[in-house]
Amino acid sequence: MSITMKQVNRVLFPILILIAGILVLTRPKAFSKEERMIIRQSDSVMYVTVWPADSAVLRTPCMDLTKTELKSKDLKTLTAKMLVTLRAPQHDGVGIAAPQVGVSKRIIWVQRLDKEGGPFECYLNPHIDSLFGAVGKGPEGCLSVPPMRGLVQRRASVILSYIHPETLEAKCDTVHGYTAVIFQHECDHLDGVLYIDKADTVYVSPSWEAERKSYDYSRPDWWPLP
Ligand SMILES: [Zn+2]
Repeated sequence: MSITMKQVNRVLFPILILIAGILVLTRPKAFSKEERMIIRQSDSVMYVTVWPADSAVLRTPCMDLTKTELKSKDLKTLTAKMLVTLRAPQHDGVGIAAPQVGVSKRIIWVQRLDKEGGPFECYLNPHIDSLFGAVGKGPEGCLSVPPMRGLVQRRASVILSYIHPETLEAKCDTVHGYTAVIFQHECDHLDGVLYIDKADTVYVSPSWEAERKSYDYSRPDWWPLP
């Protein structure tokens, strides 16, 4: 008895379909189902998580982005929306971390006040490798902790490793002054730490928006406080 090609195909075809289905279902996904909903369904200005109501996400240490996530369209969407959120008039901040928009991944935006024009830059999987230089104390606030302000002790310089959002290359940078303080504040967010955990003094500032805007961030010597 001979087996025809038609009979072979009849057996082989369903097996191939089954294998393809298993591969699709077991393919590593970028972001959790909940995170994908937050990224895709939010407006361009995202909801900013607030302490203590959103402590679950604000207090959870973040995971590094996986290789799949680094190449995903959802990451592009998320980083673009994070920047719009940071720069929205009601926020107008100098930095934001992904837990502040409900995503537990190591992503931050920092305004590089140490660079000409103060550009906003995105850092993926940032890690502070070392802190050095003078210890100083300066005022900090946080989009997730309104309307509080506090005096926080920080180091003047950081060495940071991260992945560049466009080239996906591993990079390293050394940053000084107030911009180094922003990096410390944002990287603390990624470890579930808020500035109020470190502040010597925390106070309610009814005019915290005005107070925040009173600092001349562009002056390299304004931090730390005299
Ligand atoms: Zn913050």
